[in-house]
Amino acid sequence: MLPTDGLLQLTPEGLYCKAAGAWIADHARPGCGEYWATAASEGILRQRLGAGINLIPVDYGALHRIDDARVSFHSAGHVLGSAQIRLESAGESWLVSGDYKRDSDPSCAPFEPVTADVFITEATFGLPIYRWRPGAEVAREIVQWWQGAPERASILFCYAFGKAQRILAELAAQGVGDTILLHGAVETLMPPYREAGVALPSTLPLSALERSAELAGRLVIAPPSAHRSTWMKRFKEPQTAFVSGWMAVRGARRRRGYERGFVLSDHADWNGLLASVRGSAARQVYVTHGSSDVLARYLCDVEGIIAEPLSGGFAAQRSDSGAMTDEDGSDAI
Ligand SMILES: [Zn+2]
Repeated sequence: MLPTDGLLQLTPEGLYCKAAGAWIADHARPGCGEYWATAASEGILRQRLGAGINLIPVDYGALHRIDDARVSFHSAGHVLGSAQIRLESAGESWLVSGDYKRDSDPSCAPFEPVTADVFITEATFGLPIYRWRPGAEVAREIVQWWQGAPERASILFCYAFGKAQRILAELAAQGVGDTILLHGAVETLMPPYREAGVALPSTLPLSALERSAELAGRLVIAPPSAHRSTWMKRFKEPQTAFVSGWMAVRGARRRRGYERGFVLSDHADWNGLLASVRGSAARQVYVTHGSSDVLARYLCDVEGIIAEPLSGGFAAQRSDSGAMTDEDGSDAI
């Protein structure tokens, strides 16, 4: 439970800061009066929530005064424009991580370590079994998988926002010169990434090809919702793979009916979570999402840090994040 006199309160709508008169949301939701978000996320938010939303773009690291609070946004390294939010009021500072990762990702700004008195961290992958390998290594495996089957189309399923663009950026870094085909849900999110100057391979919506076009040897990127849908009829015996942190779990690939799984996540792994908690130098830590109880207990028992799981409205709001759902919404796909 958050202290009743703390800088943030848990409300049915999410984490509320009375001093700033504002809510902190993980993944933007429609229907808010005014949005404060990073300039890097503006294109995506307008695309998702409507071009006419009242959005105040802010730069990473800039200090803003909102009512009685001082507020700053710091890169979370999760997806393009993602931010941790730091609040300061009445001599106390709080940091809300939102979704974050510390691994290198050529499609967004790197995670910025930030300190605060109180730290609210996510723990989607808060178990010691989750340890990620570098994205470049996974990208090399994806290239081998795809180029090793020139007689079939290769369909790579992954979340349309963030993961798809990260994979494309990793493929560009591997020197892939082929044009990659995209499902419409991935295609609509490409312009903000291209405008941000992220180095990406050339891409083409699958819908731009003739129905009779030969797809053998092509790499196609699609969201999990397209798997086992009529969209698949276009392909003759394609090979399929799913890219997600959940692919680290034994049996997950088979249950979901993919031939191959690649382990790549946009969330911090176990060591990344621990490094962030230590780096925050917080005297009190709250853990939300995923294995929050396991991580909180470990922090208390092994690291000697005062920590507890945070449950309630903030965690529950993730279930209705709909199209913005990413790895935390694994059950939704
Ligand atoms: Zn996310």
